Amino acid sequence: MKPLSSLPALFALLLFILVSLHVSPSWAASDSVYDTFLQCLTHRTQPSDHIPDIVYSRANSSFANILVSYIRNLRFNSSSTPKPLVIVTPTQESHVQAAVLCSKDLGVHMKIRSGGHDFEGISYVSNDAFFILDMFNLRSINVDIQKETAWVQAGATLGELYYRIWEKSKVHGFPAGVCRTVGIGGHLSGGGYGNMLRKYGLSVDNVLDARMVDVQGRILDRKAMGEDLFWAIIGGGGASFGVILAYQIKLVPVPEKVTVFRVEKTIDQNATDLVYKWQFVAPTTDHGLFMRLLLQPVTSKTQKGQKTLRASVVTLFLGNSDQLLAITDKELPEMGLKKENCTEMSWIESVLWWDGFDEGTIPPLETLLRRDYPINFLKRKSDYVQTPISKANLDNLWKKMIELGKVGLVFNPYGGRMSEIPASATPFPHRAGNLFKIQYSINWSEDDPEIEKNYLAQIRSLYDFTTPFMSKNPRSAFLNYRDLDIGTSTNGKNSYEEGQVYGVKYFNNNFERLVKVKTAIDPNNFFRNEQSIPPLPK
Ligand SMILES: Cc1cc2nc3c(=O)[nH]c(=O)nc-3n(C[C@H](O)[C@H](O)[C@H](O)COP(=O)(O)OP(=O)(O)OC[C@H]3O[C@@H](n4cnc5c(N)ncnc54)[C@H](O)[C@@H]3O)c2cc1C
Repeated sequence: MKPLSSLPALFALLLFILVSLHVSPSWAASDSVYDTFLQCLTHRTQPSDHIPDIVYSRANSSFANILVSYIRNLRFNSSSTPKPLVIVTPTQESHVQAAVLCSKDLGVHMKIRSGGHDFEGISYVSNDAFFILDMFNLRSINVDIQKETAWVQAGATLGELYYRIWEKSKVHGFPAGVCRTVGIGGHLSGGGYGNMLRKYGLSVDNVLDARMVDVQGRILDRKAMGEDLFWAIIGGGGASFGVILAYQIKLVPVPEKVTVFRVEKTIDQNATDLVYKWQFVAPTTDHGLFMRLLLQPVTSKTQKGQKTLRASVVTLFLGNSDQLLAITDKELPEMGLKKENCTEMSWIESVLWWDGFDEGTIPPLETLLRRDYPINFLKRKSDYVQTPISKANLDNLWKKMIELGKVGLVFNPYGGRMSEIPASATPFPHRAGNLFKIQYSINWSEDDPEIEKNYLAQIRSLYDFTTPFMSKNPRSAFLNYRDLDIGTSTNGKNSYEEGQVYGVKYFNNNFERLVKVKTAIDPNNFFRNEQSIPPLPK
């Protein structure tokens, strides 16, 4: 155990015993951590009068509500899920500085949460005694439309960002994810992509500056942190390096009208031909055209009692429907797209359409400011495809998906701007040579361990099945689609070797540079989690 300079010895001893015995800390332990935290934060913050309002012990009546408000995967909201001892909810940057220093002083592990969308819950779950630094109050957004930039704090959501841009301009947007409640802190530090990636790249390809708190409690902007660390926190996962306070982003132009459509085909409607051809067209077509492909086993409408595979093409086109049809008629006639399938709308309306609101049911734009979101039990995995899958193998894949029954696949086309950016420009390495990314997806609503076991087995079985068709050496993965199956770290003496296992999959050749940055900025591995970047062994 590390020396705990300013910690009352009794408390340190109690915590040590609890952790060593793997005993879930009791309410009493939570209360004493709370008291010690309060003292430490008060001591470390100027002015300190609001500190009691931002620290929650388990005994506080708001504790459970705050904890659950940003849990976005019900798998990590059970009675057996380890709970934090304390939640700290900073309302100013100096609170974050103090929280980092107090976490070090007290030897209590820190988890950083912004929007809580981590698919494996690692922003709010730990097997060590821990507290959550919950960033949801740090959510200001300042759009400078003259300069076409914005400063966004880590606790803001994507919906809030899109709304605040739209308030200032109808012809600007930002290339980021499609779910409005995703947090800036995790999304941008992990790469961040959305339906404009073929035109403008990832979110991090459009980040200009950042502010973060390092392990010494200093606030660093891009100039102060230097280019290596700035590089690391735009795609390497912020939580390995510090606490991201805010990013400065570059806005991108969007047309006054964009076009969306959804076309569905089942196997008997030549879904296989469509998907096969899609692999050649979607990654090479006009950069303003993003055609996501959703593949799902469903009940057949034509053959009673039979299952089939449904392929749905869900699209954003940065132009009008006539321009779009001119492209799809020529390049993907298998889709059978007609003018009546297409809807023209403003870019901001398309954000809500992509978030699940159909044409005609698009709610007021203020919905983007709402932080509630329907949640389920879920598991995700990811893969990259570099060579088109043959028709015979697609047919086999459909058979497997129908046999399993519930796992869906999402194909996200790359190419366009993604192929123009070098693989080393940011930690995210999956650029030229990748045709599309696959998300394996399974959601369920039953709170039943047996069902969970079965669904987790299904998604893993499909992942095993697809091995021959996916990127190899390494079989790559996307950090923002967090998947603890691909390796975890115990953050002990083998952390470098353990980190290499998942790190090379997420970052390919960029992993070693991330390790170097980590070693320079945080050699004692204070900022760590189950899949963080390890420092070099001493
Ligand atoms: C419904 C849903 C839809 C999604 N859609 C997309 C999508 O379209 N595109 C896409 O790219 N991804 C998507 N994702 C994945 C999402 O981008 C990642 O899970 C992302 O990390 C979430 O960020 P967060 O702040 O909400 O999550 P959190 O759970 O709060 O954080 C995720 C990780 O980042 C760390 N972190 C959070 N805040 C900070 C901070 N301030 N400083 C340092 N580290 C921090 C956490 O410790 C954790 O390791 C989706 C996820 C969900 C659940």
